Amino acid sequence: MNRILFEQSEIVDGIATFGGERAEHVLDVLHGEVGQVLKTGVVDGLIGTSEIVSICRDEATGERIVSAKVDHRFESLRPWVDLILAPPRPRVLKRLLPQLTAMGVGRIVLVGARKVEKDFWGATLLKPEIYRPLLVEGLMQSGTSILPEIVLKRGFRRFLSDDLDVMFPSRRRVVAHPYGAEGAPSQADGEPEGRLLLSVGPEGGWTDEEVALLESHGFSRYSLGGRILRTDTALIALLARLSPTASGFMV
Ligand code: SAM
Repeated sequence: MNRILFEQSEIVDGIATFGGERAEHVLDVLHGEVGQVLKTGVVDGLIGTSEIVSICRDEATGERIVSAKVDHRFESLRPWVDLILAPPRPRVLKRLLPQLTAMGVGRIVLVGARKVEKDFWGATLLKPEIYRPLLVEGLMQSGTSILPEIVLKRGFRRFLSDDLDVMFPSRRRVVAHPYGAEGAPSQADGEPEGRLLLSVGPEGGWTDEEVALLESHGFSRYSLGGRILRTDTALIALLARLSPTASGFMV
């Protein structure tokens, strides 16, 4: 955890009170003591620091509880990319969510491309109370606070025809696909402005028809080369490659 994040409801009269994993991290990893200043923030809010004012144990549960006086006055770094993802198996997605968040993804639209496994849509992971902590974990890792949004769009064609332009007007659009533009720089390279919209296929890959449809909606193909990567490897490599920070445009 590079920044401890609080829910707004945990802060009363300028004092944040928290237990669980965050308190354990503060006490056992950061060796927190009264007077120590922590990097903190509010989920979907401002970031800054907090000074520990007390450490105690809950009498009923024995849980260690930390209270800290908050001073949050700075804006977090904002996401630089949104994702259209034909989801992999839930256990792969579960591993990915904190990492996508930490790498700066703002909105993740999970779409029902043809090769997405049908039973994916019944996964427990899709419940906000299950995936939200994974997103917050990614924010605490990266030290940011803007919570990504997850949107489910099971109908791929309908999403493209009805929702794409409304949700993502005037965006640079890129479809990651191993075939067709091998090694060639794409429009995604070298553009310093604007938030990118990246689409990544299912574990079985995009069908030719889906790639053609994406292209007809303004997506340009982007290949990392002829090696076909696992979805999780491809996603991290794509984000690292396309990041404006990596290109030197933004710090
Ligand atoms: N057998 C599938 C195929 O041939 O397309 C493999 C799909 S791969 C596991 C899942 C997704 O990761 C792909 O649809 C693509 O979006 C992305 N991906 C994997 N390797 C890639 C590469 N070399 N370049 C660009 N995208 C890649």
